[in-house]
Amino acid sequence: MTKIIAGLGALLVITGCGGPGVDRSDSLIVIDAGHGGHDSGAVCEGSKEKDVVLQITKKLYKEFKSEGYRVHLTRNSDKFLKLWQRTRIADHKDAKVFISIHANAIGNKNRFNEVEGVETYFLQKTRDERSQRIAARENASVLQGTDKLSKDVIIDAVLNGPKIIQSHKLAIDVQHNIMKNLNGKYKGVKDGGVRPAPFYILVGASRPSILVEVGYITNPKERQRLSTSNYQEEIAEGIVEGVNRYLDNRKKEVGF
Ligand SMILES: [Zn+2]
Repeated sequence: MTKIIAGLGALLVITGCGGPGVDRSDSLIVIDAGHGGHDSGAVCEGSKEKDVVLQITKKLYKEFKSEGYRVHLTRNSDKFLKLWQRTRIADHKDAKVFISIHANAIGNKNRFNEVEGVETYFLQKTRDERSQRIAARENASVLQGTDKLSKDVIIDAVLNGPKIIQSHKLAIDVQHNIMKNLNGKYKGVKDGGVRPAPFYILVGASRPSILVEVGYITNPKERQRLSTSNYQEEIAEGIVEGVNRYLDNRKKEVGF
């Protein structure tokens, strides 16, 4: 009996490493490219948030597929989606995580050069003004065409949002791995950290859900980097490695 348990233990350790041979086919990953269609998101010097995040999302699709996951994209072309259209698939019973991809921006031109960095958000009410400001900018566009959704219902869902602890853990793993990847290849990428914020897009998804702001489109250095396939690839790989890590740890937590 002891031998069998020891054997199973060894097997679990190997499975938990996240290397080749791990069967990910029971896990559905939902990826949401922010904005789209008439909603360009942040725009600066010809760069549009909706285009950058779709390019990264397509790379994510390939990366997750190559790891054996099933993947669903809320959009794979330049079109606008209503809030419920973005989150509905994340309620599917097999969906393990919901990841919304965005690029950041600030309004003050005098600070374009200094404000930069990668930030990952999970849903939670916060008093932090900066997080509230970023959430307000993203929320403005996501609410277009959602007449039926009353603000009170949304706020209530934010306050009682499920999966906050798991979403926080997922955010930490994803942020850490994006930074590890980028820092390995690029100099001076700022780690904006993991932050709570009341993003409406995360409200409707009943799975652990995060929103990644991959960089500031208003910062000249990041805008240039974000337009390149290599930089986008490093971000995508970091996100996938972060999700692998989160799910492997989760499996150990729940004991299977
Ligand atoms: Zn956005």
